[in-house]
Amino acid sequence: MSSQVGSRVFNFSAGPAALPTPVLEQAQKDLLCLPGAGASILEISHRSPAFIDILTAAKQDLTDLLGIPENYKVLFVQGGSRLQFSMVPMNLLRGQEKPADYVVTGSWSSKALTEAGREGPTHVAYSSKASNFDRLPEANELQLSTDAAYTYFTSNETIQGVQFDADPDWSEVPLVCDASSDFLHRPIDVSRYGLIYACAQKNAGPAGVTVVIIREDLLERSQQPSQENLAGYLNYSEHVQNNSLYNTPPTFAIYVLGLVAKWIRNDVGGLDQMLVRNREKASLLYDIIDGSDGFYEGHAQPSCRSLMNVTFRLPTDELSASFLEQAKAEGLHSLAGHRSVGGVRASIYNAMSQEGVAKLAGFMRAFHDAQKHESQCSESTDCES
Ligand code: PMP
Repeated sequence: MSSQVGSRVFNFSAGPAALPTPVLEQAQKDLLCLPGAGASILEISHRSPAFIDILTAAKQDLTDLLGIPENYKVLFVQGGSRLQFSMVPMNLLRGQEKPADYVVTGSWSSKALTEAGREGPTHVAYSSKASNFDRLPEANELQLSTDAAYTYFTSNETIQGVQFDADPDWSEVPLVCDASSDFLHRPIDVSRYGLIYACAQKNAGPAGVTVVIIREDLLERSQQPSQENLAGYLNYSEHVQNNSLYNTPPTFAIYVLGLVAKWIRNDVGGLDQMLVRNREKASLLYDIIDGSDGFYEGHAQPSCRSLMNVTFRLPTDELSASFLEQAKAEGLHSLAGHRSVGGVRASIYNAMSQEGVAKLAGFMRAFHDAQKHESQCSESTDCES
């Protein structure tokens, strides 16, 4: 095996995404021998005291950071957020004899709607598909059912870069949130939600673990006799009863998630500070977009721009390709937009440093200036060399 260590670039990947450097350093330090365990985190039993301590601390740190009330359970499950597209309706819709409302604001809520449709009746309370998911609903645009099993939404649409900046207050029915790509980016009022879930690999850790926060009373829905055919793994109640150890959990991913929670608490200073940092970073990029006389065209309407995924296009596909190529040469990686939106997507989750975003902003300014210069030259002969 080569011992050569490559130099780290600024990684704008949408996920798995950048992790905080102190977290990686700590994981590296513990990798040969977890203090007190005599072996690596990769090698110890999920039932060993050392791992139970890690699991308990990760849950407690999430509880403290988010102020999770006592009548909620925190679970660590596998299968990614995609499995939650199904587990949510399997547990909360089956046997309810009423529809689930879906607020469809992008690719991920669309996919969640499709999966829910396999489990029971769904109702689209809102869709921005007609404008390629560039916006979010005004309160008066929502067509909520009078008595839904739950109302589902995606707090941040990773592909389109549209984000709710506050906890919705839509109705009394349980609110279910896919927070996969903005979990832990700001404080939230958990008591407004029935269930929140997030795969870790964007803002909270590595791929392999998904956090589910569920209000206790909703567990009754998967304990009904009509749910006896629900597979054990797919039943939230099983995970609660087994303290997230129903099967062998992704021990390493949970360990790193715990380190990320500690980093937010100790190094960043909590979620209020996290939000301050995230706002500052995002405005560096949106200011360039807004000041570019239309050269950079944001995908999301300004009122619902994401602090996590900044999506924009350049005037032509050729310019986008040249932007991405030159950015990469400057150490700014993984900036290509998703094919359904095109252009550029800068994912600037919690762990992306201010330095990385400032470097991207500088690059955007320089790239635009160079284009302006080139088009002025093509109109005059003064610049010929
Ligand atoms: N929801 C959102 C908002 C996402 O961004 C993603 C992944 N990009 C998913 C769901 C799917 O997550 P996973 O790949 O963990 O199933």
